[in-house]
Amino acid sequence: MLLIIKLLCAILTFCLLSSLAVAQSTAEAALSTSKMVLSITKPVKIVLDAGHGGYDPGTEKTREGMKDEKVIVLAITKKLGEKMLLRLIGTEIIYTRKRDIYLKLDARVAIANQAKADVFLSLHCNSNPKKSVYGTQMHIHNNTAKKSRKLAHHLNKAFETIAERKTLGIFNSKDRGFPLYVLQFSKMTGVLIEVGFLSNSKEEEFLNTESGQDLVAEAILHGVVTYCKAEGLAVKLLPKPAEVKAELAKHNSEAGKKLIKEIDEATQKYEKEKKQDEEAAKTAKIVYRVQISASKIPISMTHYDFAKLQAKNYKIEEVITDDDLNGKRYRYFVGKEDTLEASQAILTEIRKFNFKDAFITSFEQ
Ligand SMILES: [Zn+2]
Repeated sequence: MLLIIKLLCAILTFCLLSSLAVAQSTAEAALSTSKMVLSITKPVKIVLDAGHGGYDPGTEKTREGMKDEKVIVLAITKKLGEKMLLRLIGTEIIYTRKRDIYLKLDARVAIANQAKADVFLSLHCNSNPKKSVYGTQMHIHNNTAKKSRKLAHHLNKAFETIAERKTLGIFNSKDRGFPLYVLQFSKMTGVLIEVGFLSNSKEEEFLNTESGQDLVAEAILHGVVTYCKAEGLAVKLLPKPAEVKAELAKHNSEAGKKLIKEIDEATQKYEKEKKQDEEAAKTAKIVYRVQISASKIPISMTHYDFAKLQAKNYKIEEVITDDDLNGKRYRYFVGKEDTLEASQAILTEIRKFNFKDAFITSFEQ
């Protein structure tokens, strides 16, 4: 009897041990497979392109206290980039600009093409002579760019559901009547997002608030995630760290611990990048210039009004900016000052000549 019990025990122990061994090796196999998948899965490269910048303000603010398009889209782009760094695992974020600098359209395209990016997002604000018009627009190159159309569709949906914004639909080159350079020449899936109209006072106000900018960024984030998942791209959206970390710690589960680790790693990556940005911002120099004129065609330096200024020893500089929706602009500047006061003194003098609409513009150099 004793022998039988002993034998039974031995059999049981063997079974238990071997099943444990099987469980362990399955877990190890799963772990090594996931490691393997992780090591061969390339991150999804996303280019964030804040439209305009520097010399080119884009759509100008309609009133004091508001900001120009170049400032609003940069703020949204930065918020979006932060969200992606903090919460979107499996991606690499590339900015065309992080600061208030001027970049030509071909430079933006070159950044995206050289990075061999998977997704290109260009952010803009709209304008319409009819002030009642508001809502978002998604622009793609043409309908043969099927992936771009899908991305635009998911972005459109996210603007409706996440941000509860009015959407005006998806537009291609035919709808617009002209191609957009950044979409035409970038080689990847791409959408130019018009986040709203600055010519509509309610939408302008919304886009000037932190909460509005955050909501727009959140919608874009969700649109990108839905698109990536539908395309089978290995991205994972983490919950907002502040909301879930305390809750996860309470339960102390393995899955929870893994999630906390992922959140912490993403936060570290984000903090590191933020520090680098702050260092770069320290060396950035802001200059103030007076824009005296802007035109679709070049103005001769010997023009009567220009000549009068030059006779008073003002040096006029011509800067050509290119804009996807409005085409080339020839801009004329006077002065390059370190302080707003110095630039204001120049503006006061210049307005005495025939430049009543001259204004001060500032940007980084
Ligand atoms: Zn624009």
